[in-house]
Amino acid sequence: MSYSIAIDGPAGAGKSTIAKLIAKKKNYIYVDTGAMYRAMALFFLESGIGADEQEKISAASKHVDVTISYENGEQIVWLNGRNVNGLIRTEEVGRMASSSSVNKDVREKLVELQRALADKENVVMDGRDIGTCVLPNANVKVYLTASSRVRAIRRYEELKAKGEECNLDVIEKDIIERDYRDMHRDISPLRQAEDATLLDSSDMTIEEVADAIIALCK
Ligand code: C5P
Repeated sequence: MSYSIAIDGPAGAGKSTIAKLIAKKKNYIYVDTGAMYRAMALFFLESGIGADEQEKISAASKHVDVTISYENGEQIVWLNGRNVNGLIRTEEVGRMASSSSVNKDVREKLVELQRALADKENVVMDGRDIGTCVLPNANVKVYLTASSRVRAIRRYEELKAKGEECNLDVIEKDIIERDYRDMHRDISPLRQAEDATLLDSSDMTIEEVADAIIALCK
């Protein structure tokens, strides 16, 4: 039986940083499900589909092939055979991912891929619906959050380090809007699973959060 750790939470809570660190420490595979929604979103953007054109999104999702592979522990996302890792981390793609992830066809396709991965391998999987929908029987479930201001500051520092022009208030507003959409959609909204442990990382270091989650595995 493979072992699974599910980490859910809002944008910028530190899920991917923490999940990567835990995967390394435990020699598990890190599955970044947000990257899959972003790859799909990139396809819709490139196809000229608008964020609110749900029928077109459903139809187009039939032509999308999203797969992932690993190179030196790094997840690579393939969109119709093309490595799109370098293209999916923009604010534009993030916004489109948040809009297109409300779509049932998009979700069904990606949830199937995520479950197949967790069946085969020991995984640390992060996202919005892992503990509640994708892996309801995960061995450990964590809901990781932090205040919207702290999350915005982290995002701001990240963008600034990349030399991108950004504004803290705009980033915070964007984060709040994205959380609202993720928490209020009909299918698999973001929420804490009943059996998940709540961790607020606002005043914790990365190591402290990772150690707290590893302690839950024992
Ligand atoms: O985590 P990340 O910011 O990369 O995710 C982008 C978007 O993909 C989220 O805002 C959310 O709408 C969607 N998503 C989702 N379910 C997941 C992971 C991500 O709906 N399991």
